[in-house]
Order: sequence, then structure tokens, then C-alpha cells
Amino acid sequence: MNLILKNNPYHYELEKLCRLFYPEEQINVVENGDEPPTDDQISACTELQKTGGGIHMIARLICSGKATAAETDYVPGLFDDQNPERQLAELLYGLLVRQTGFEPRWGILTGVRPVKLLRSLIEKDGQEQAYQVFEQAYHVSRAKTELARFTMENERHLLKREQPNGFSLYIGIPFCPSRCAYCSFVSMTVEKTAQLIPAYVDCLCKEIQAAGEAARSLHLTLQSVYMGGGTPTTLTAEQMDRVLAAVQDSFDLSACMEVTVEAGRPDTVTEEKLQGLLQRGVTRISINPQTMQKKVLHAVGRRHTVQQVLDAFQMARKAGFDDINMDLIAGLPQDTPAGFADTIDRITALNPESITVHTLSLKRSSRIFQEGQEPCSGAEVAQMLDYAGQKLLAGGWRPYYLYRQTRIVGGMENVGFAKPGKESFYNAAIMDESQTILACGAGAGTKLCAPSGSGKLERIYNFKYPYEYISRHEEVLQRKAKVKQIYEQLSSF
Ligand code: SF4
Repeated sequence: MNLILKNNPYHYELEKLCRLFYPEEQINVVENGDEPPTDDQISACTELQKTGGGIHMIARLICSGKATAAETDYVPGLFDDQNPERQLAELLYGLLVRQTGFEPRWGILTGVRPVKLLRSLIEKDGQEQAYQVFEQAYHVSRAKTELARFTMENERHLLKREQPNGFSLYIGIPFCPSRCAYCSFVSMTVEKTAQLIPAYVDCLCKEIQAAGEAARSLHLTLQSVYMGGGTPTTLTAEQMDRVLAAVQDSFDLSACMEVTVEAGRPDTVTEEKLQGLLQRGVTRISINPQTMQKKVLHAVGRRHTVQQVLDAFQMARKAGFDDINMDLIAGLPQDTPAGFADTIDRITALNPESITVHTLSLKRSSRIFQEGQEPCSGAEVAQMLDYAGQKLLAGGWRPYYLYRQTRIVGGMENVGFAKPGKESFYNAAIMDESQTILACGAGAGTKLCAPSGSGKLERIYNFKYPYEYISRHEEVLQRKAKVKQIYEQLSSF
């Protein structure tokens, strides 16, 4: 697909908008170029023309040689617009909807954090005005506007628990038993990298100690711990115990509200590991089926069975876990609305404390994308999410965090639902970007937030790949040693 921009610099938003409608197309952005002859390609063109007293906007869409166009004058200040970007996107959006017959539920809103946007609009001008902006300026459906508001209300009481000097700790374990076809994480399969794990655990424990020193010297209060990946339970029980012992030895956990470990793949869960986690104070685990459809599991290369999901869940309950999350993905290849409804029915029947409903994101580095596997359509995903939302609300789960990703099928969203009182503080805090996160492990990103709440933040990234993280670990520790200085600088804002 070609995206041609004439006299306007808005390629970032307009490209995201085109991708909503044509997720599998490679989009070539041509600035101030001519419209190429297009029989086989789709071309979108946006143009700004200066007129006597203002700006005229034109959008054209050429598909299979057939052109449609729309034009209008830019209205400065409409919905607080400071420039023509939104109105130009709106013009092109109308053409894209007409051409494809698909009306994205989030309209032209392409941002990752719609809940945060809604909250700031409500705080500024009240709910009625905020709804108008969502629905009339961004063309968000009433159902999604309501979902954002409901999520905002549920996350509010969690965010109130943030302490000015509070922080959360993230620990990354970038190893998995095998690689899922939709995955784009820097996660290494154990088959290839098992020999790295002992050295990785050694380095990780050192970095956790260094993070603990930084937190102590800054008098920060640890409020939550999240061990994610990858699949942390790819480690042996003994390796996980070493990591969790390093956390206990390095931090004061007396104010810590939750310790989560992603036991993501049911095929990595054992009684020994579960008991070990409980003994080290883990309060919450995630067991992630993604789907309960055998053929879908097979299509996406998750090498576990539906029965293993059920067994892992029951094993965790029997061990004593009373806070279990389960992740699902809508839109996977080979799935259908009926299949996804069955997955939802089977997972809700287990009654986990929280259920996170993701929408498939078509990342370029995933096998699904590279092999050209067909995901579900945007319309099918919409049906899946509608069913999930209704069933979960009826069952007493409430949405409490929500985010979107680029290349997410149908422009939809990921939503964390939880039973009241079982929401994860960490998830809400990370989504709101309002709390400092000290992060350890390959690919982990530390985020330091100004304690004043000014919104100012700084990030420090670790090396992406485990072998780099291990071989250049001195540099990792040097970066951790800078946390104190950077945080103190931020404290002056
Ligand atoms: S378990 Fe998660 S991190 Fe690991 S390969 Fe699958 S999707 Fe990627």
C-alpha cells in the first residue's frame, strides 16, 4: 500500500490509520510524491492546500484502479485541534470505512492508552464533553467509550495505593520451552539456550542485589513484584528459588502488596515449582492457555494440550494459590467466534480470579506474519470480544486495565478483567506509567518516574539478548548504579 503525503507531515498517525484497515500490507510512505498508477496496489493520498484565509484538506483512496475522494476546509480549534492532523485523518478514515466496509470500534483513535486519555479529558472538561470528543472527534463506539470509562473507574482505587516513594520490581526470564507462532518477544527456546540459563540466573541475582542497593539508598518502598518473560517457570524449581531468594534478601517486602510469577505455559508447571513459589511468598500466578481449542493450539505451535491447562490450574489450586490469572488471545489463526466462545466458557467455569483477554497483534517478527498465516478478521474478533466482555461481566469479573498495540487485529484492545479485590496493582501501575519500575534481566527496561507526579520519566534499558546480558554484565551493573543519580535528578522536577 502507498501512503502519499502532500504538504503535510502526519505520516505517523496516517500510517497507523491505514494499518488498521490493511494490517497485512507493507505501507510505503511517499512524501510530496505523485500518486503512482495503481492497478494492483492500494494508494491513499492526503493533501493540504493553503487557501486565502485557511487550509483546504483533500483525501483520496485508489483501490483496484477505482478512486474515491473527500475534501473539506480545516476548522482550527475544533475539538481543541491545534493542527489539521486529526481532521485530515478523519477525512481519510471516511474513505477507508466506505472502501472496506469495516468500521473500527476505536475509530481513528490509535493510541495505546485510551483510558488515560479519557481520564485526562474527564478531568479537564467533565464526562459529557469527554464522551463527545471520543465519539464525535475520534469516532469511538459507545461500547468502547463505556469500556474505557468502566476500566478507568476500576483502576482508580488501585492507583490510589501508589505511594510517592513507591516502586515495583520487574524480573525478566526470557526463556520458553518452545516458541509460539504469534510471539515477537526476545524469548529463547530452551532447546537452543538451555546452557545459558545457569549463568543467566547468576547474573540476574547480582542485578537484583544492585537494584536492592539502589532502592535502599533512595529510601524507596517496594509495592509489587512481577516475574515475567518468556516463561519464568521454564527455570527449574531450584533456579527459581535462587532468584526469589535474591529478591527476599535484597528488598524490604513488608509493604509489598503482591508478588506475581507468570507460570505462562501449563507444560512447565509442576507441584515442586508451585510449592517453591508459595514458600517464597508468591501471591499470584498466571497460567496462560491462550485458547482451549486443540486445533488452534496446534496452529500456533503451543506444545501443550487443553488437558494440561486444566491439570495445571487444579494443581495450583490444590497447592494453595487463591489468585490465579489466565491469559487468552482472540483472533488466532484457525479460531472462530464459536471456538473462542467455547474457550471463554471453559475458562470462566474454572473461576480464576482474573482473566486477561488479549487480541492478536500481528508482529512482523512473528512466525504467523512471516508465514502469512491468516488470523481472524476484525469483524470476527469484534464478535469474540463482545462475547468475552458480556460473559465476564455477568460472571463478576471487572475490567481494570486496558491497552492497545500497533498491528492489533481490528484495532481492538487487550483488557485485564478481575474479580473485585483481585486486581493486580502492578498491571494497573505499569499501564498508567505513573510508578517507578526497577527492572532486572535481559531486555528489561527500568522506568524512573519523578516522585512529584509531574509525569517526567527516564528509562534505562538492559541488553536484549541473554548472551549479551551475560557477557556484558559489568555494563548492566554500571547502568543499575546510575539509578540513584538519575532518580535524584528527577526528584527536583
Ligand atoms: S510462551 Fe509467551 S513468551 Fe514464550 S514463546 Fe510463547 S508467546 Fe512467546
